[in-house]
Amino acid sequence: MSHSTQALSGVEWRECPHCGLFSQLPQHQPGLVAECPRCGYALWHMRRAHLQFPLACALAGALFYIFALLAPFIEVTAFGRFAMARLETGPVQLINAGWGSVGALVFAVTMILPGIKLGIVAATLLGLEMKFPRRPLRALFRWYAPLSPWAMIDVYLLGFMVAYTRLTGMFSVHLDTALYALICLMIALASVDASLDQEMVWRRLGKRNYTPTSLDPDKAVGCKTCGSINPAENQRFCRRCDAPLQPRKPASFSRAWAFTIAAACLYIPANIYPFMNLTSLAQTQSYTIMGGIVELADVGLWPLALLVFFASITIPLLKLAGMAYMLVSAQRGSKRLLNGRTVTYRIIDFIGRWSMIDIFMVSILVALVHFGRFANVSANTGSLCFAAVVVLTIFAVNAFDPRLMWDHNKEPEA
Ligand SMILES: [Zn+2]
Ligand SMILES: [Zn+2]
Repeated sequence: MSHSTQALSGVEWRECPHCGLFSQLPQHQPGLVAECPRCGYALWHMRRAHLQFPLACALAGALFYIFALLAPFIEVTAFGRFAMARLETGPVQLINAGWGSVGALVFAVTMILPGIKLGIVAATLLGLEMKFPRRPLRALFRWYAPLSPWAMIDVYLLGFMVAYTRLTGMFSVHLDTALYALICLMIALASVDASLDQEMVWRRLGKRNYTPTSLDPDKAVGCKTCGSINPAENQRFCRRCDAPLQPRKPASFSRAWAFTIAAACLYIPANIYPFMNLTSLAQTQSYTIMGGIVELADVGLWPLALLVFFASITIPLLKLAGMAYMLVSAQRGSKRLLNGRTVTYRIIDFIGRWSMIDIFMVSILVALVHFGRFANVSANTGSLCFAAVVVLTIFAVNAFDPRLMWDHNKEPEA
């Protein structure tokens, strides 16, 4: 082997996934966060809770998840008729009405992925408790971090809040079991996120022959999945978790540009075309995103109008502008404001999923408001374009490797 193995046994190095700096992990001290000394990225959240706590949260969450899937969600009475929706009613209506991709997206992020996320945590932690073979558990737990943001129960509940305020203005609305189950499920998912120490899981899942001996950082590559560092040469898969190793995300600039440009192109029709139609007594009213916000403000619902404005107009624009800025500055090799640009990356990575509020609102309205000629809500082209903008900008952020911004900054570190 050509790399130099230093005699620093017991000391673990980490490559910061946001700036590429190699630094040493401290000893385990519950409650502390080990941050990257250069950009402040949290390399290790050392949770106080034992791994049994997130396991209990995941099992409780699974129970609420089943209730949320099976029980009725919301009921509406109007014009002497009654409409009831379960969680799947909205997506199914969207698919039947020809908006298959929007329906499939809502179906996946509200009904499939929360279950998968809980399943990964429960199966991995139970498997560890019961001393299952660790190889399949590693293959399973590798999916936890990338899939986690796609379980969007929290965003869905905000979308529900907006839909609920619109519905109560027109009909008599009754909330049902599944809503309370969804709130409990959201709390369970958040508790898993806040208590699961991923580094501790990887320490217990790692290959038996893995030793955290330190490598020369100049000849090492960090694993994007479990964080451990590996020799840069002759090593295609991580020594600890078997994930494929890549020094930088492949074709990062071109992929990130492609997603950003596609999203920017679709942002225009997303705002020009109507988002949804409300048909009442042979009169059809079309709402654009902005029209919906103005209507909320007109009836005095300012906080909601601001929330939707922020989620549907500001966040996508911020993401597009932020991506373009980071891509241009990284490609030009700029050394200015590196910390600020890394913070920009973290913000647009964090806020991206919250743009789904309007999509979820439409899916709930579509599920409930179909009272024949009296009142009917249907989705329209704008919602399809907007859903594509949200997904493409999330892909763009995922494709971009923020370490490329720092790669030009090769001055020796203190
Ligand atoms: Zn860093
Ligand atoms: Zn790894």
